[in-house]
Amino acid sequence: MLKVSNLNAGYGNLQVLRNISFEVNSGELVSILGTNGAGKTTLLRTLSGLISAGSGQIEFSGKQIQKMRPENIVKEGLIQVPEGRLLFTEMTVRENLELGAYSSGARKNMNKNIEYCFQLFPILKERENQMAGSFSGGQQQMLAIGRALMAEPKILLLDEPSTGLSPLLTKQVFDIINEIKQEGVTVLLVEQNAHQALSMSDRGYVIENGEIVMEGTAESLMKDNKLRESYLGLA
Ligand code: ATP
Repeated sequence: MLKVSNLNAGYGNLQVLRNISFEVNSGELVSILGTNGAGKTTLLRTLSGLISAGSGQIEFSGKQIQKMRPENIVKEGLIQVPEGRLLFTEMTVRENLELGAYSSGARKNMNKNIEYCFQLFPILKERENQMAGSFSGGQQQMLAIGRALMAEPKILLLDEPSTGLSPLLTKQVFDIINEIKQEGVTVLLVEQNAHQALSMSDRGYVIENGEIVMEGTAESLMKDNKLRESYLGLA
């Protein structure tokens, strides 16, 4: 579904991503793991068209998208949940969800999809008329995921959904990501929290200094000594 080949990108003269190649197959949950500053956010923003690719290819659903504008990439069904959530804090939960339904197809299914979000996140239903800005970090993360689902993604890109969340809330959010995957949505998850990300992933890649340095099934990565030491805090 998503195939990235020899991707290079950065900011002005600063090259951040170096020859990145990876793929995500339909129905998979794939994690990209890396520490602070490794280039994870830059990678997602390049896939979404918010940073232009210097060179390389991004193929999504059979189309080359590396030169497409962000709004057209969204229309193709590649939807990102940004780090920091970027909600409309002065709008209600329902209004934030409605704004997620960008395409005409998604607008037609808006009410049905809102009900689906309420089923996934009952707290959003309870608070549908409250301002998003009054929410805790975990609730905002749920709303940000709900808003992305309103766009009917073919692939959902999640940028560090566990940032700022307690272990309990992180688990709740990850359980829901797993449920979304079970419903058939393809997911690309970027995380520092390697253990929890891998525990629900099919496959994973490790990015260091803008390069992919390791890849494999989640099971094989969990057993890898270097990864266990550097990312899982296990000897
Ligand atoms: P984090 O978990 O801290 O978000 P990350 O793996 O997502 O880390 P990026 O945010 O992609 O990393 O940053 C990769 C590199 O690009 C870092 O060296 C960072 O300083 C640099 N960088 C990020 N955003 C910009 C920007 N807008 N302008 C210039 N350099 C940037």
